[in-house]
Amino acid sequence: MSAEKNDALVCDVCPRRCRLSPGGLGACRARRNAGGAVVAESYGRLTSLALDPVEKKPLARFMPGTYVVSVGSYGCNLRCPFCQNWEIAQAGEKDVRTREVMPDELAALTLDARRRDGRVSGIAYTYNEPLVGWEYVRDCARLAHQAGLVNVLVSNGCASERVLDGLDGLLDAANIDLKGFSDAFYDACGGAAGSLACVMRTIERLAADPRCHLEVTTLVVPGMNDSEAEMEDLASWLAGLDGGRGRETVTHHVTRFFPRWRMTDRAATPAADACPVAGGARRDLAHVWVGDR
Ligand code: SF4
Repeated sequence: MSAEKNDALVCDVCPRRCRLSPGGLGACRARRNAGGAVVAESYGRLTSLALDPVEKKPLARFMPGTYVVSVGSYGCNLRCPFCQNWEIAQAGEKDVRTREVMPDELAALTLDARRRDGRVSGIAYTYNEPLVGWEYVRDCARLAHQAGLVNVLVSNGCASERVLDGLDGLLDAANIDLKGFSDAFYDACGGAAGSLACVMRTIERLAADPRCHLEVTTLVVPGMNDSEAEMEDLASWLAGLDGGRGRETVTHHVTRFFPRWRMTDRAATPAADACPVAGGARRDLAHVWVGDR
């Protein structure tokens, strides 16, 4: 966060770097200039709380057969026209019903869930973009670790180094979207300049962190990012991560598009079409999954 004239502040959580006048709300609708600081107004305000199989995040190769208490709030720093969770991700506080769940309560209810079912392994931060309210992730994740629970992050990866520093050592697994492999695709997703580079840095950093299991998701949108060539380039880059170990260590989910939010002009990706695109990825990566996420 840096100060500008007239008490405006610049939020440094993501590449959008919103300039916020006093009282002003960021583009993600989750952060505001309040009381002389940029604060996460969404802190502890949950729109979703569910017990999900870890495979649904999706994580294919992390503690299979276990369940995670999955929480989401509201807001996102991208505007993907095909947003699959638009009711909460593209919403502000006034558009949604929230329930306040502070970190100690979330840790307690997760432990409670584990007492009832030993397959409950931890907490997933998911549904909307969790890192626009990263302080909540950090505070919950610390308590979760103290309680012997794991932390799973499902994110678009558009977050600054400062945010990743703040979460260092707290994440046990992450699924990061790599939505496409061109700046033009991220432009189409409403990303600020530098969004693709930022996501790539996030993925690079997590791939090199032995404490965090990494999986990556690409949703295949017909006519936008469904060429085998683009998928090959993307997969080849993933394979080269962590000194070339990415081929074995990074799991790639190639998921199908379903018409949602502002993109209802085309049909769902036929399962038969997702497979050849996944085939482009399989040339470079040992673990590629086709799914419906
Ligand atoms: S996190 Fe939100 S307020 Fe901060 S720069 Fe990104 S979009 Fe703007």
